[in-house]
Amino acid sequence: MPVDQSNLRTRFPDVYALGDVSSGPRTVAKAGIFAEAAALVVADDIAAKIAGEEPPAPYEGWGICYAEFGDGLVSKVEVNFLGGPSPVAARNDPSLAFAAEKAEFGATRRARWFGG
Ligand SMILES: Cc1cc2nc3c(=O)[nH]c(=O)nc-3n(C[C@H](O)[C@H](O)[C@H](O)COP(=O)(O)OP(=O)(O)OC[C@H]3O[C@@H](n4cnc5c(N)ncnc54)[C@H](O)[C@@H]3O)c2cc1C
Repeated sequence: MPVDQSNLRTRFPDVYALGDVSSGPRTVAKAGIFAEAAALVVADDIAAKIAGEEPPAPYEGWGICYAEFGDGLVSKVEVNFLGGPSPVAARNDPSLAFAAEKAEFGATRRARWFGG
């Protein structure tokens, strides 16, 4: 579904599209991390409209991906698809710190989505 990628609005008033179903002139990977980031912008855009406030900062197509390297080591890639003229990605070397961060990332989402 085509959207304005800065705020995920469709051409229909008050209708948004985000996640795998949305598309725009610029490429953003289809991944849950981007759907989550887009959902935050949509929520803020709706809240700003209701409150009559300025819209949030544009959606940047920002996300992270953790990669397991064995021996308890995890690397993290950070990607930003829309924040600049072309996509940028930064790769971090595997470490135990990223392994702990990945565990925390999963734990916070399990708690938020499923409780407990
Ligand atoms: C094997 C695999 C591994 C992946 N690994 C990762 C990963 O490591 N990290 C990551 O960030 N992303 C990963 N992804 C991608 C991620 O799962 C998707 O990008 C993400 O789920 C998209 O979220 P969404 O809400 O847009 O769509 P979905 O999660 O697909 O949700 C859409 C929902 O709508 C429902 N639906 C469909 N049609 C209708 C209808 N007509 N009426 C009512 N409901 C309907 C579907 O049943 C579904 O529940 C992976 C995907 C796959 C397949």
